[in-house]
This record gives sequence, C-alpha cells and structure tokens, in this order.
Amino acid sequence: MSLSDWQHKAAVLKMEGRAFIDGRYCAAANGETFPCYSPIDGRLLTPVASCDADDANLAVACARRAFDSGVWSQLAPAQRKDVLLRFARLIEQNTEELALLETLDMGKPISDSLTLDVPGSAECMAWTAEAIDKLYGEIAPVPANQVGLITREAAGVVAAIVPWNFPLQMACWKIAPALAMGNSVILKPSEKSPLTAIRIASLAKEAGVPDGVFNVLPGFGHSVGNALALHADIDVLAFTGSTAIAKKLLVASGQSNMKRVWLEAGGKSPHIVFEDADLDRAAEAVAAGIAFNQGEVCTAGSRLLVHASIQKTLLDKVRLELQRWQPGNPLDPATRLGAIVDRQQLDKVLEYVEIAKREGAVLCEGGQQVLEQSGGTYLTPTIFDGVNSAMRIAREEVFGPVLSVLTFADEGEAIVIANDTEYGLAAGLWTRDLGRAHRVSRALRAGSVWVNQYDAGDMTAPFGGFKQSGNGRDKSLHAFDKYSEIKATWINLI
Ligand code: NAD
Repeated sequence: MSLSDWQHKAAVLKMEGRAFIDGRYCAAANGETFPCYSPIDGRLLTPVASCDADDANLAVACARRAFDSGVWSQLAPAQRKDVLLRFARLIEQNTEELALLETLDMGKPISDSLTLDVPGSAECMAWTAEAIDKLYGEIAPVPANQVGLITREAAGVVAAIVPWNFPLQMACWKIAPALAMGNSVILKPSEKSPLTAIRIASLAKEAGVPDGVFNVLPGFGHSVGNALALHADIDVLAFTGSTAIAKKLLVASGQSNMKRVWLEAGGKSPHIVFEDADLDRAAEAVAAGIAFNQGEVCTAGSRLLVHASIQKTLLDKVRLELQRWQPGNPLDPATRLGAIVDRQQLDKVLEYVEIAKREGAVLCEGGQQVLEQSGGTYLTPTIFDGVNSAMRIAREEVFGPVLSVLTFADEGEAIVIANDTEYGLAAGLWTRDLGRAHRVSRALRAGSVWVNQYDAGDMTAPFGGFKQSGNGRDKSLHAFDKYSEIKATWINLI
C-alpha cells in the first residue's frame, strides 16, 4: 500500500474513544473527555474518555465480581488457552486497522506497526496462551506422612499501567500472562496513545473473554492511574513507564494494601564497540539502536561507548547510516523514522539538546526540528560527541533519537563507564574476542545483554531491568510469576 492508500484509510477510519468496563464501551462517569491528537499532522483523532477514581472503583468492582465468580479464574487452563488463541487470531486479522491506529496515535512508521508492533502483540498473546496449559505445580520433598503441594494461583485483580512508545505490545506483554493465569485485568493506556488498547477490548470480548474480566480505562496518570495505584482491592499493579512514576507507585502500594508492584522502567543503555569489532555491522546497529521508534525505546542504545582508537572511523560510519533514518510521514511505507509522540516530548528532547551543548558536548549531527509545515512533531537524529559520564546527556533518559558518544581506553574502563548509571535495562557489545564477549557480558549490570547485535529478543526470553530500571520480568514463563501467588499445602496422611 502507498502513502495515499494509508491516508485514505486514515480519513475513513472509525475510532473508539470510550472506556470499556464490564464488557461494554461507556463514557467516563464524569462525562469528560480529552482530545487525542496525531503527532503526524496535529489533527484531532477523537475525544477520549477521561476516566477518574469513580471509573476505577466501578472497574475494580466488576473485575473482582468476575474473578470471584470463577467464570474465568476457574476455567481449565486449556479453556483459557482456547479463548486467548482466538484473541491472538483476532488481533492478527485486524492487523491493518490496529497498525493504522498505532501509527496515527503515536507517530511510529506504519511499516513498523504492521510488521513489528501488531504481529509482536498477536505472537505474545498466542505464545502465552500456548504455555498456560503446560505449567505444572511441584511436590515438596516432605516426610513420608505428609504431602506437600506447591501450586500457583491467580493473584486476583490486576491493574496494568502502560506507556505510549509501544502501546499495544506493552499492553499485551502484561495482559497476556495476567489473563492466561486467570486474573481479571484493568488496563490503563497512556493518555498519549490510548486507541489500540481501547480497540482490543472489543476483540477480547469477541474472542470470548467474559464481561468484567478485561477492562480498559483511558485517562490521565495522576487521576485514574493514581486511583488504581491506591486502590485497596487491586492485588497486582504491573507498570511500564518512567522510573519517576515507578517510584510513586511503590509509595502508593505502601500507602494502600501492599499490592504487588512490578516495574519495567527507564534505561540509559550502553552500546559498547571494541576495537576488534566488525565496524560496518556495528555502525548499522548503533544507528538503529538510537533511531528505531524515534529513539522512544526504553532499551535505546543511547550511550555509544567506543574504543578511542576507532572513534573517528566508527562515528563516520554511524553518521552515514543515520542518513537512512531521516524523518518522514509515518504513513509512508518507506519512512523509517516517524514523528515524536507530541509537542511536550519534542520540547523535552530539544531541551536536552540545549543542555548537552551548554555542558560542552559537541553536536556533530542533527538536533533540529523539521517538517514543521506538516503540523506534526519531527526531529532529525542527533549525535553528541565528546560526552563524559558526568554530563546529564549521559545520565538521564532523553527518550528521543539522541546519541551520546563516550570513549574508553581498555576493557576495564568500558565496563566502569557502562555500569556508571542508575539504570540497568540493557547493554550491547561488539567484539570478535569470545573471551571478552563473555567477560564483559557477565560484568554488565543489565537485564538484557546483546553481543554482536542490538535489541534482539522474542517471547522465549525474559525482559526486564536491574537497578532502577525495575523489577520482575515480562515475556517467557517468568512473566507468570508476576500474576500468581504461590501456595504451599501440607496434607497430613493420618
Ligand atoms: P510515564 O511514566 O510518564 O507514564 C507511564 C504510564 O503511567 C502512563 O499510562 C501514565 O498515564 C501513567 N502515569 C503517569 N503518572 C501516574 C501516576 N501518578 N500514577 C499512576 N500512573 C501514572 O512514562 P511514558 O512517558 O508513558 O513512557 C516512557 C517511559 O517508559 C520511559 O522512561 C521508558 O524507558 C519507559 N519504558 C520502559 C520499558 C521497559 O520495559 N522497561 C518499556 C517501554 C517504556
């Protein structure tokens, strides 16, 4: 399909902006809405329900009622699997519509929404559904007159609060294992990108998820998000978003009912290139590592750590690669770098460009807003050279296509710089030396480490962070840990 095909589809696309509670779409209790704009051209997409504490209370009551009734929680795992496999297929069958919504809503290239976000979400749902009837409990090694059963039970009512950068995928990483375990779920999408979350609610219903088991509450974080975080009848709060908000959720849990809080938070990931690396492939990965999804990626390789002896050669290659990542209309299938999610985020990124300049970093590529006449929010990929670990541009998450370049003299120094961060989400390294690849991977304090590649992953491996990048893991069988309680049952064989 061409740009004009997508523009035509966008012009006639019907968008749902209401909340979804107890199996039906409804306005927010207060009747209020907020406007949802597209970063592509600034046009109003649809008004969206602005839910608050009243909606949270209603959704929790419905979710709890559904959970206690057993209509979902007590189904055989194989039956929940069948429903969720149907849900996965429906996501797949509606790929075009969901991809278009995602791109209009948050500005990512349509080619990514079509080939990564929506298929990745369907795959997450299907993989997780397939796993749920293959999980066994344990028998404890107890004395002969006892039987010790170790079983997993659904936790109860789960609230999932998700960010705007991969709206559908982040939602599926949470709702798939939560639903598969038998929980009732309340999903709160970001106010910046609520549309795909709202849309899949009707797909869940069509697939056979019972009323009250899956609810979607759009609205602002400080309002409906905060109400969920403080709610006394939510058992688990699963969050993906910034470290600053993650810390608030820990406090809210302590102030309320000690609900389990699972956090996938920010990152400032090092991408290390040693002097023996394949520099062409490394340069390609470094460029993609900072430009993919407009740099709005928690694992963005935002700190390039390069051996001093190859710094100039590598940087020249990265600059060349970034020519292929110039901003364009996200609805154009040829576009690789889309729009920044909104004006607020663009301003934040531009402010970091100014901060970096003031701190003495050398702007050697990009840093400009472009395509202003479109009415959208676009930025050229940006490189700062001469960065050191003390600078804010090396320490703080920019969440835009801004690369900081730092140099190191030897392996030991590379590890020290890489770990000199409050975050620990991901890291990448390039070397042909097998021993070094293992040594450095072990030394890096990060939840994902990529060797001679960047940003690899599928449903088979867990994803999450060390340090202030969070706790717990999404994806793989480890994801079920978040949404279950473990019970020990002691039976006396009298
Ligand atoms: P954010 O923290 O601003 O918002 C995330 C969600 O929290 C949104 O739904 C928002 O409405 C809600 N929220 C905001 N304030 C709240 C409050 N007081 N109480 C409850 N909920 C509240 O993050 P963002 O800007 O949407 O997303 C970008 C961040 O997400 C970056 O820091 C990025 O690194 C992180 N992220 C992490 C991962 C990961 O897996 N570790 C993945 C994607 C994004």
